[in-house]
Amino acid sequence: MTTIEELRQVFSWLKEQLVTYRELGLEPPPLSQRTVQYLMLCGTPENMGKKQLAEISSLEDLRAFIGQCTRCPLHEGRKNLVFGEGNPRARLVFVGEAPGREEDIMGQPFVGEAGRLLTRIIENGMGLRREDVYICNVIKCRPPGNRDPETKEVQTCLPFLQKQLEIIKPEVICILGRIAGQALLGRDFKITQDRGKWSEFQGIPVMPTFHPAYLLRNPRAKRPVWEDIQKVMDRLGLPGGRTNG
Ligand code: SF4
Repeated sequence: MTTIEELRQVFSWLKEQLVTYRELGLEPPPLSQRTVQYLMLCGTPENMGKKQLAEISSLEDLRAFIGQCTRCPLHEGRKNLVFGEGNPRARLVFVGEAPGREEDIMGQPFVGEAGRLLTRIIENGMGLRREDVYICNVIKCRPPGNRDPETKEVQTCLPFLQKQLEIIKPEVICILGRIAGQALLGRDFKITQDRGKWSEFQGIPVMPTFHPAYLLRNPRAKRPVWEDIQKVMDRLGLPGGRTNG
């Protein structure tokens, strides 16, 4: 018997034990948050022997680790998993919410109308090229009908984004919208209240601003977004930044 077959048997036995516990009306043994996260990300027999998330140090290895992920129900409706794209050594990372219809079809982040607006902000506003920065989302598979991702889906996918940011080590993260803000800065985050204010995630300065899709619906929000972007530019020492942020 191979190691994988043996481990498969152990997992199946454990599953039976847990079912028996439930049938007897007993609570299964409580697992720590860390153990649950480990089991969700790594602890399948198929992943045994592969690199664990903590050991990964390149975006290519991380993408291979995620594979054709089925760790949350969002895999069921996706056409493509949208990992993220851009400069792996980017000084600036934009983090949005989740892929939309066009992103799901193309397998790339921010390629729809909102994405084109983000590209204009980067290129015309900041004077950078889109490929100079890194663009990704909290959630890597499109939620059906573009609904908000559920808390459990965010929790399951978030370790991948955390790892991406750990690998890229940007100087600034620009959060786009409420969902990304709540995922990285906590459930109390409110976009209308907290945009434009510096925070930190994994020791990296974070500037939250409105999502470009919101800008398309509310053109008046362009001014505050431009002010937030100027603060980012100032932090990065780019010409045109404002110094009062
Ligand atoms: S959303 Fe994230 S956790 Fe869920 S299936 Fe896609 S990659 Fe996996």
